[in-house]
Amino acid sequence: MELNEIKGIGTKTITLLEKLSIVNLDDLVGYYPYRYNVWQIKNLKDCLNDNGLIIGIVNDYPKLNYFKRNYNRLSFRVMVENKLVNVTIFNRGFMKNNIVPGNKISLYGKYDEVRNNFVASDIKLEVIENGFIEPVYHLVNGLSNKQVNKIIINTLDNKIDVNDYIPCNYVNRYDFKSKIEALRVIHQPSNINSLKQARIRLIYEEFFKFLFKINYLKLKREKKDIGIERKVNYLEIEEFIKKLPFKLTNDQVTTVNEIYQDMISKKRMNRIIIGDVGSGKTIVSIIAMIINCKSGYQSVLMAPTEVLALQHYKNIKELVKEYKVGLLIGSMKSKERKEILEKLEKKEIDILIGTHAVIGKDVIFNNLGLVVTDEQHRFGVNQRKSLQEKEAMADVLYMSATPIPRTYALALYGDMDLSMIKTKPSGRKNIITKVYPEKDVRIVLEQVWQELKDNHQVYVVAPLINDEENELNDVNKLKDNFMKAFNNKVKIGIMHGKMKKTDKDQVMQEYKDGKIKILISTTVIEVGVDVKDATVMIIYNAERFGLATLHQLRGRVGRNDVQSYCYLISNEDVPRLKVLEESNDGFYISEKDFEMRGEGDLFGIKQSGDMNFKIGDIRRDSKILMQCKKDSLEYLNNFDNNVLYQEIVRSLEYHN
Ligand code: ADP
Ligand code: MG
Repeated sequence: MELNEIKGIGTKTITLLEKLSIVNLDDLVGYYPYRYNVWQIKNLKDCLNDNGLIIGIVNDYPKLNYFKRNYNRLSFRVMVENKLVNVTIFNRGFMKNNIVPGNKISLYGKYDEVRNNFVASDIKLEVIENGFIEPVYHLVNGLSNKQVNKIIINTLDNKIDVNDYIPCNYVNRYDFKSKIEALRVIHQPSNINSLKQARIRLIYEEFFKFLFKINYLKLKREKKDIGIERKVNYLEIEEFIKKLPFKLTNDQVTTVNEIYQDMISKKRMNRIIIGDVGSGKTIVSIIAMIINCKSGYQSVLMAPTEVLALQHYKNIKELVKEYKVGLLIGSMKSKERKEILEKLEKKEIDILIGTHAVIGKDVIFNNLGLVVTDEQHRFGVNQRKSLQEKEAMADVLYMSATPIPRTYALALYGDMDLSMIKTKPSGRKNIITKVYPEKDVRIVLEQVWQELKDNHQVYVVAPLINDEENELNDVNKLKDNFMKAFNNKVKIGIMHGKMKKTDKDQVMQEYKDGKIKILISTTVIEVGVDVKDATVMIIYNAERFGLATLHQLRGRVGRNDVQSYCYLISNEDVPRLKVLEESNDGFYISEKDFEMRGEGDLFGIKQSGDMNFKIGDIRRDSKILMQCKKDSLEYLNNFDNNVLYQEIVRSLEYHN
């Protein structure tokens, strides 16, 4: 069955769904809500601190006000518990004519007793007696939450076939529901308990399938994976290390040794370096490239964005004089590009730096010996494989700036060897970190003034681009606020995921060049971008982010020997934020993160930018992860007649 055969999906909807990366029915039913609104009827006084559902009778016609560029506000009064209560709701102007005196409606939100005002984040025109759980999806303009939910439910009503990747044994062992039942619950939950069960089941499936692949690759690698046996004297490498402008840390030296051993051995290197932001992974990878070049092979380094590629290119050109370094990025003119490709084929380039385009089919190396990938933690197993396929014997080195405890790293990267860089280069100052409620934000802004006077730069991060429900800080709102606070005297830039990649790159480059002083964005700012003058990171609604994400964001400042600051703005008393006040050590923070999440936390925050799991989160769901490691390894010995797993295995074989 195809998308267009589903009721409610026309050509227009198909185009919109494509924007959400939904191109077939599997994508559609696998488009999970990222959170849920739990609507439960409460007394007014129970809605003081927590959101709640109240039923009221509309008392008068609503007034509609417009303010700022895109905002509007409806206000009216309702009768609740024999009391007239003011109601405010933002950006629901279109509902004005449906709110009619005498009608009963359901309102979801918080009550402000002093002003006798109920700020609703949502309204339903019907009476919701028993409360309900509403799935909330990421959307694009033109598709409402309701529509997305509706077409998914329509699809599930069609009795479509979905692949269930949990083998029967394990379905029985854990008494799991069928996939299709679980999907229905995920998109149309009737109670919290069944929703939890359904989520566990889908998370288990996602992890199981992933770890099956990892375990399979691991076994395969142990059997045979022949690489280049290099003859390079370590003294030559030491020569290069001695000339560096700094002394390597102990962990850097250990990692260099591990890499050197891999590269002179017959076995093909497949190694990941895990180290905190700023721990100095790049120089280690440069040394690996030197080892490779010294034995006569070409090296390539891939970065996730052009900005990062450019940064690496400049650094490497600076440090490596004896080899020719080239750059290949998408924004190059075709003439330039052609020139680079020709040189590459003739081996007039020894080290190529670029974005993912550098392993494209049309990029032909003369004798590629080493592939380095920066910020690899987001890519899936299949991308790992396509890398290894590029050149049958080339060594592969990954770098990840997401510190995680060793046990979990061994599961997630079981197909690779692990090097951990835990020590930081000496002389680094800790980033002073403080949590403030919003009402104290002036203290933060004063610090910002000081820093700007010293020609330093500031990052501001918000959880959303535009908060329709007007509960949180968003990029647009903060931009207005900061413009006002700094009298339009400071150049402010914004950046978010809905911008075009080229526009994002441009803003980032302007920030890097010091033209933009304050950058307000969602979490899209790249890991690893080095802006030496950035000394302040302000994160609004910090309670919305997981520890790992916050720590990653904080790592964007403190890339210099001047003191840097991180301000976590939150009105909620969240213990996990204190961990960041206490420590700057990514591995410690990560351990706390794994520790502090219990089973009750199944609906807790999912970290952004980790591995690209759709529903599972390695920290939140770490117990399921470890169980799947065990189960999938066991299953690897007897998957023979399962068609789905045969297919997975086939897809993991190299094709060259
Ligand atoms: P990351 O691990 O986040 O990729 P980088 O490799 O970009 O970190 O290193 C961050 C900065 O630290 C760079 O400017 C780099 O030159 C510097 N650096 C790396 N190793 C050392 C060291 N041993 N001593 C001092 N500075 C170092
Ligand atoms: Mg880096």
